[in-house]
Amino acid sequence: MSRPITASLNLEALRQNLQIIRRAASGARVWSVVKANAYGHGLDRVWSALGATDGFALLNLEEAILLRERGWKGPILMLEGFFHADELELFDKYRLTTSLHSNWQVKALASAKLHDPIDVYLKMNSGMNRLGFAPERVHSIWQQLRAIPNVGELTLMAHFADAEKPDGIIEPMKRIEQAAEGLACRRSLANSAATLWHPETHFDWVRPGIILYGASPSGQWQDIAASGLKPVMTLKSEIIGIQTLHAGACVGYGSRFRAQGEQRIGIVAGGYADGYPRHAPDGTPVLVEGVKTGIVGTVSMDMLAVDLTPCPQAGIGSPVELWGEEIRIDDVAAASGTVGYELMCALAPRVPVVTL
Ligand SMILES: *Cc1c(COP(=O)(O)O)cnc(C)c1O
Repeated sequence: MSRPITASLNLEALRQNLQIIRRAASGARVWSVVKANAYGHGLDRVWSALGATDGFALLNLEEAILLRERGWKGPILMLEGFFHADELELFDKYRLTTSLHSNWQVKALASAKLHDPIDVYLKMNSGMNRLGFAPERVHSIWQQLRAIPNVGELTLMAHFADAEKPDGIIEPMKRIEQAAEGLACRRSLANSAATLWHPETHFDWVRPGIILYGASPSGQWQDIAASGLKPVMTLKSEIIGIQTLHAGACVGYGSRFRAQGEQRIGIVAGGYADGYPRHAPDGTPVLVEGVKTGIVGTVSMDMLAVDLTPCPQAGIGSPVELWGEEIRIDDVAAASGTVGYELMCALAPRVPVVTL
């Protein structure tokens, strides 16, 4: 038997989540965002379960080429565009849609030798101040692009910094309206939070990522609890050791946890080198033999400890869910001061993955 930790991927949940998203944004087409190796799930493992999507959005050329080699013929959007002018040859060869956010990219595209025009997502800065042209420049860049023979279909793209807040899109939407005034343009604006909570942002193409994988864009599971979205990834392991502590005995590095009275604890094969957050505090939820309990002591590289007080029947070999269908990744992340996005993306390569 090998080390008992595994990540299992529920591909049916992924399919269903895409359908839920389609219903939520029924007037729009859907870019399924599969950057960062499909948020840590493995692009090659999951892309075909998303085969009903209208397009895939990501940002590594290698990942885009993988999709083409696997037979995906639909659109692929490169969210950060090309990083160097010489990549345009591959954008041409593999029919990739590029985001375009800087002047040098406009020039590079204008002077590239291509077989066919490339579709362009003109990226505007709606206030997040990461990538994109200022709203007042959009008009002139748009006209400039229209005159370039290498430019195919043009779409206006923006991104939201605060779409999980009820009024978080008001200011950015004003800037987008200002930029788009007088342009008869297709638009793609909505990330997961805007797709779920701000239908007025849907327009032509939505770009959901985290909700495909069944976690919350706000970091709070309750915010998507009623949506029907289901977690795709379940990280499971087993208890490989048992300790009975006396009052005052400590657990793990730094002796962070100290038993108040006699207490049984279980040692689980799973630690930060598997992707479990080292910052998880005592009480971070975990499921043992189907019973919810909490972790105790500092998470080690390869192990962590759990309180067995609520599950006295648990012993060596008892199943443990670290996150998944019962223990929400959002709850583990929130306890640890991060978001589900980071935990998914940080699933370590040493964890065997099975697809269901
Ligand atoms: C990552 C990303 C998304 C998806 O964001 P989620 O919050 O996961 O839905 C959408 N658009 C762009 C430009 C992105 O970089």
